[in-house]
Amino acid sequence: MSELVALFSSHPSVFIGLSFVFAAIVGSFLNVIIHRVPVMLKREWQQECNHYLEEYHPQRFKALGEKELNKSIDSFPEKYNLLTPTSACPKCNSKIKPWHNIPVFGWVMLKGKCANCSDKISARYPIVEFITGAAVAYLAWVFGPTIEFAATSVLTFVLIALTGIDLDEMLLPDSLTLPLLWLGLILNVNGTFVSLESAIIGAIAGYLSLWSVYWAFKLLTGKEGMGYGDFKLMAVFGAWLGWQMLPLIILLSSLVGAIVGIGLIATRKLHSGNPIPFGPYIAIAGWVAMLWGKDIVNWYLVNWV
Ligand SMILES: [Zn+2]
Repeated sequence: MSELVALFSSHPSVFIGLSFVFAAIVGSFLNVIIHRVPVMLKREWQQECNHYLEEYHPQRFKALGEKELNKSIDSFPEKYNLLTPTSACPKCNSKIKPWHNIPVFGWVMLKGKCANCSDKISARYPIVEFITGAAVAYLAWVFGPTIEFAATSVLTFVLIALTGIDLDEMLLPDSLTLPLLWLGLILNVNGTFVSLESAIIGAIAGYLSLWSVYWAFKLLTGKEGMGYGDFKLMAVFGAWLGWQMLPLIILLSSLVGAIVGIGLIATRKLHSGNPIPFGPYIAIAGWVAMLWGKDIVNWYLVNWV
């Protein structure tokens, strides 16, 4: 292991290149996560609802019938998780061949169409793979073969999955946010990024900051401006980067959110008042703060204070 680290340290371009390839392959698995985790969650929730109905309103449960209740989730095979069934074309169900599964290039080779039925394959798949590869290659360049590189790569993977799921479903699953929170705290036990004190206060303050905004907004307007997943994601960044970075992340995410929101309203892709997912903006702002947060804060202090 130490020889490998030494080799990568003396050949940074090899390390960066390998990081790109490895991360792009992970990116192809992130596509699976983005697609399947919401389905798996909805299935779980439907089953819980069924159980509740069966237990407390058995008459209604019988009257409705389990088949009717499961209508929205029955289109997926019974055994459905991140590994089974193997990837197939959603239209004609033909299996994806291994060489078509090569990140980015598989999609380019197929010219964005299913090899069997020529149905269009979303450009989002290669885009996710490329962004994952490029982001981690950049981390490899910044951190080299270190624990910081490994940790921030894992964070990047999960953030990309969360972004995709939130854009699709307005949902930030606990199964992805909470492990990140614990990981951030563990990494900072011996101060990988910040002191443990900063991390713990950061996790709590991160959650509470958006929680208070949520309640203030709800009490004032009667509407829900964001979800509990957003608070947890902010807690993640508090745990990883310390409470000192939170103001910057909140500022950046609101700024990016406002720009994108106004852009969408201006181009009539969004009507004002309709909800937009906030998770992607927190994820982007947090990632930026992780890499350039200290520079941004210093620049601000030097030039404006
Ligand atoms: Zn097909």
